[in-house]
Amino acid sequence: MNESPITVALAGNPNVGKSTIFNGLTGMHQHTANWAGVTVSAAEGSYSYMEQEYRLIDLPGIYSLSCHSDEERVSESFLSSGKAQVIAVVCDATCLERGLRLLKQILGLETVKDQGVPLVLCVNLCDEASCRGISIDFALLEDVLQIPVVPCCAHKAASLDDVKAAIASAAKRTFSYDCLDYSPKKLAAETAVYSRGHFRPLEARLDRIFTGPVTGVCVLLLLLFFLFWLTMAGANYPSQLLWDALFGLEKHLAAGLVTLAAPEWLISCLVYGVYRVLAWVISVMLPPMAIFFPLFTLLEDLGYLPRAAFLMDRGFARCRSCGKQCLTMAMGLGCNAAGVTGCRIMDSPRERLIGILTNAFIPCNGRFPTLFTLITLFFAAGAAKTAASSVTSALCLTAAILTAVFSTLLFSWLLSVTVLKGIPSSFTLELPPYRRPQIRKVLVRSVLDRTLCVLGRAAAVAAPAGLVIWLMANVCWMGPQAGWFALRSSAAAAGETLAAAVPALTATGQEAVSSAPSLLSLIAGFLEPLGQLMGLDGIILTAFLLGFPANEIVLPIILMAYLQTGTLTDMSDLTALKTILVSHGWTWQTALSMIVFSLFHWPCSTTVLTIKKETGSLKWTALSILLPTAWGVLLCIMLHGCLRWL
Ligand code: GDP
Repeated sequence: MNESPITVALAGNPNVGKSTIFNGLTGMHQHTANWAGVTVSAAEGSYSYMEQEYRLIDLPGIYSLSCHSDEERVSESFLSSGKAQVIAVVCDATCLERGLRLLKQILGLETVKDQGVPLVLCVNLCDEASCRGISIDFALLEDVLQIPVVPCCAHKAASLDDVKAAIASAAKRTFSYDCLDYSPKKLAAETAVYSRGHFRPLEARLDRIFTGPVTGVCVLLLLLFFLFWLTMAGANYPSQLLWDALFGLEKHLAAGLVTLAAPEWLISCLVYGVYRVLAWVISVMLPPMAIFFPLFTLLEDLGYLPRAAFLMDRGFARCRSCGKQCLTMAMGLGCNAAGVTGCRIMDSPRERLIGILTNAFIPCNGRFPTLFTLITLFFAAGAAKTAASSVTSALCLTAAILTAVFSTLLFSWLLSVTVLKGIPSSFTLELPPYRRPQIRKVLVRSVLDRTLCVLGRAAAVAAPAGLVIWLMANVCWMGPQAGWFALRSSAAAAGETLAAAVPALTATGQEAVSSAPSLLSLIAGFLEPLGQLMGLDGIILTAFLLGFPANEIVLPIILMAYLQTGTLTDMSDLTALKTILVSHGWTWQTALSMIVFSLFHWPCSTTVLTIKKETGSLKWTALSILLPTAWGVLLCIMLHGCLRWL
């Protein structure tokens, strides 16, 4: 084996399959995504071919070397540094001109010209090109460019072998680019022949529909509506199955701890506090996420999302922000923490900060169960799971999301005319071609990268939150004479197994403990006046406070406090749930205020931590909490005032 590895740089436009080629050559698993800007830093890997080691650098996708964006800066500085011994330029066979333009700029770099750095052109996506009736004259291309040209289909091992061979032979040759001059437009027109011309007009027509001001908005609304409807209609059944399985396990866990002679308070705390919250979060979060994320990734893979970003760009430009914020908002629908991290794709620090500060205005997946339940109970056909009720629920949810989008735009504008003044940067997002989605890859990517990752984070905060919530509900305030605090007996709240196995506490003073107020009810009492002013009550506000680690446990905490069970309560029976809420004074107006406050309040703990990490500033983190909270409180007070006046 040759001692020193040969450094090969992989350059090209975004979305041409660079990461796929990189992964194929190196056997690594870099994330591939279908819009510009995902890979801002360069990835590195290695492979060996014919006794020679190669070090492969995957540079971020770029449209030119004009240094407008971070990606362009990273690529330009690496290519000019002379570190690359071979440069492999990857281009899209369905869009040859764009790739040839970049190739010409790379050939024009002084280091490349002076040192005659070997260049290889990989024309990728040849399978897509032949599907569209495009045939390419590779011999002519090679003749004009005087560099090796490799037709490639990144998913095929044979193509990857061709790429390796071309790189290896180029590394041994000397190149001179002094007399090389060509027109990318002319060369593309001469070498790429469209035998079936109907594909391009079809794409152009689709683009006109998806990005047109009226048709684009209609399609976006319809797609959102369909996405939510599928998620809601499809999540019910698996949610119930998971619920039954996980709550069935609860009894056995309690019985197991009883056999281990664990004290009653510990069993109650671990099983009916920590485990129950965890089971709750998993059974309500997993099914909608397992449906929503693959559908969302499918839209991403089809090439629709960049078109949605393009469509929204006009609105964002009016709010003095950048169209890429639309993409981060879409990520926020899945998880606000992911949306905040995604704001790295915005080049201007000002716009990035606007994106981060306003991301929590978009309801994340964790808030959806509360929204679904309240909409179903108070605004659709109640607990009846008919087609009509699913449609009404999806319509209401779409309206809620639109309110969130308008609020994001409003606050983006407010921030950009006050604390974050500046001129919006230009937004260059070339629309990638439509692709046939790879279903298996979509499933793997959305389940592993998104669903399980978000679920894992939610579970990690839900477990300690379960403990805190259990303590708040079971520690009673006794006053100075009786030793300040006491633990309430939770035998009544425990399941049948525990009730039979553990005799009720008979310690003296237990009756006094049951009548003493829990910490939860003390805080609820304190917040009652503000709650009333907002059309809610003290318990609902306390539940939002305790739901800081995970938004999905807000409704369970409300039930726990109303029923005074000391543990989170089963809410699988929607009719019973509505009866409980109505008996505690809920009307459709309370539900409406709660929906508004669910949409606009502080971000969850994971998101707050992410914001602190991304901005590195306590001031901006505090503002990101303050903005949605103030907006939510204000909207609820105004709404309640108006409804009372009416
Ligand atoms: P990058 O942005 O240049 O790194 O592009 P990616 O590697 O992320 O690829 C973008 C999309 O094109 C992904 O969905 C890939 O699976 C797909 N893709 C890449 N190469 C090919 C190919 O040769 N044929 C087809 N049909 N799809 C490809």
